[in-house]
Amino acid sequence: MLCMSQTVTLKDKTFKPYIPQQKIAEAVNTLAQKINEDLKNDFPLFLVVLNGSFMFASDLLKEVTIPCQISFIKVASYHGTSSSGNVTELIGLTEELENRTVVIIEDIVDTGTTIERLYEVLTRKHVKKIVTATALLKPEAYKKSYKIDYIGLEIPNAFVVGYGLDYDGLGRNLKEIYVLA
Ligand code: 5GP
Repeated sequence: MLCMSQTVTLKDKTFKPYIPQQKIAEAVNTLAQKINEDLKNDFPLFLVVLNGSFMFASDLLKEVTIPCQISFIKVASYHGTSSSGNVTELIGLTEELENRTVVIIEDIVDTGTTIERLYEVLTRKHVKKIVTATALLKPEAYKKSYKIDYIGLEIPNAFVVGYGLDYDGLGRNLKEIYVLA
């Protein structure tokens, strides 16, 4: 019997369970083990892209056992005063990035616009290497060619909430991932 209490209503939309906690945990632990092996000699700086990545980052980084540093950023975009169009700024970044291996921690990669902006800013800061890790990827929506090194789970082109992801600020605290019902 379908239990209606399993659905979640956030504002005007109803979501149904999609990816259970256990499946998320297994995917995240697999990523952490790969990162531990691949980056053990890199002393990486993990850049957690807020807000949506907070839960993924917390679970992932608890299982990362190599020497590392962790920083939290927000991506802001504004119109520059020149003809350069949109300028991207990383808010909260205080670490020196030159010659560092930087691991971007994203909640979800959709079209890839956010990843592209991060690449542009980080490249200007002369990092040694950019690595990306995301909890979720929508392969059908991803339009860029930047390599996504660590992917937790691939999902179809649907709107999901939970595990850090929100709908209008709601649902970030959900332990599981839900999809529009
Ligand atoms: P992109 O720049 O790759 O198109 O999108 C990345 C951002 O869009 C994510 O960090 C996230 O904030 C938002 N986003 C993309 N897809 C979803 C989704 O299915 N659910 C939610 N809640 N946010 C999404």
